[in-house]
Amino acid sequence: MNDLLEATSVAKKFGDHQVIKDVSFTVPKGTVTVIIGPSGSGKTTLLRGLNALERPDSGIIRIGDVTVDFAKLRSSRNGRLKSSDRELIRRYQARSGMVFQSHNLFPHRTALQNVTEGPIVVQGKRTDQANDEARELLTKVGLAEHADKYPSQLSGGQQQRVGIARALALEPDLLLFDEPTSALDPELVGGVLEVIRGLAAEGRTMVLVTHEIRFARDVADQVLFIDGGLVVERGAPAEVIDDPQQERTRTFLHRLL
Ligand code: ADP
Repeated sequence: MNDLLEATSVAKKFGDHQVIKDVSFTVPKGTVTVIIGPSGSGKTTLLRGLNALERPDSGIIRIGDVTVDFAKLRSSRNGRLKSSDRELIRRYQARSGMVFQSHNLFPHRTALQNVTEGPIVVQGKRTDQANDEARELLTKVGLAEHADKYPSQLSGGQQQRVGIARALALEPDLLLFDEPTSALDPELVGGVLEVIRGLAAEGRTMVLVTHEIRFARDVADQVLFIDGGLVVERGAPAEVIDDPQQERTRTFLHRLL
C-alpha cells in the first residue's frame, strides 16, 4: 500500500451547484501533489473535503489506515452524525493537517503558544514536551528567534510559517495547503515557498492548492488540473504543465505563464 491517500468518486454540491463531480486520484507516500485550475473550479472544496472540513456528499477517501465512505455516514434525528461516525471522522481528520490561505492564529498568544495549543489541548501532551517540540518546529520554519512574539509583531509570511509549524505540531501523515501564499505581499511569498520546499525534501506527503505555477513545476511529483469540478488532466509537471494535452489546460496555463 504505497499510496497514503486514495480518493474515489468524490462528489459535493452546494444547493443545486455540483461543485465536485466525480473526482478520483491517489497520492503516493512521500510525494507532493499540486492542484491547479481556474477560480471557482472546486479546488478548495476538494482540498477541504480531504480533511472533511467540508464533508463530501459521496465518495470514498482513505488516508493511511482510515477510510471514510461519505455516502454511508449516518446522522441522528438532530442532524448530527451518529457517535460512531463522529469518532471515525475524528480519526480521519487527525491524519491530515491544514494550512490555510490566511494563518488565523490566536492573536493573544505567542507564536510558541499558537504551536503548542493543539498538542496540549487535543493530544494531551505535557507542556514542557510540547514547548520543546514547538521550538524545534519554529526553528525548522526559520522562526527560532520569534517564538515569543505575538502574531501582530510578525510579518504575514512569518505568521504563515507559524501556521505551518502549528499544522506540523499535530504530526499529521498528510499536509494540506490551501493557497498558502495568495494572501501575502509578493516579497514574502518566497520565504513561505522555501519552507514548503524543505518539507518536500524531507519526504513529507503534501497536497497543495496554489497559483504559483513555477513553484508547482519545481516541487510537484503530480499535478491535477481541475475545471468544472472534474480532474481534466493529471500527471507529472513535465506532462500537465509543460505539455498539456487538453485545450482547457492550455488556455488556463497561457493566462498564468
Ligand atoms: P476554487 O478553490 O477552485 O476557487 P471553490 O472550491 O472555492 O473553488 O468553489 C467552487 C464553487 O463552489 C464556487 O462556485 C463557490 O462559489 C462554491 N462554493 C464554495 N463553497 C461554498 C459554500 N460553502 N456554499 C456555497 N457555495 C460554495
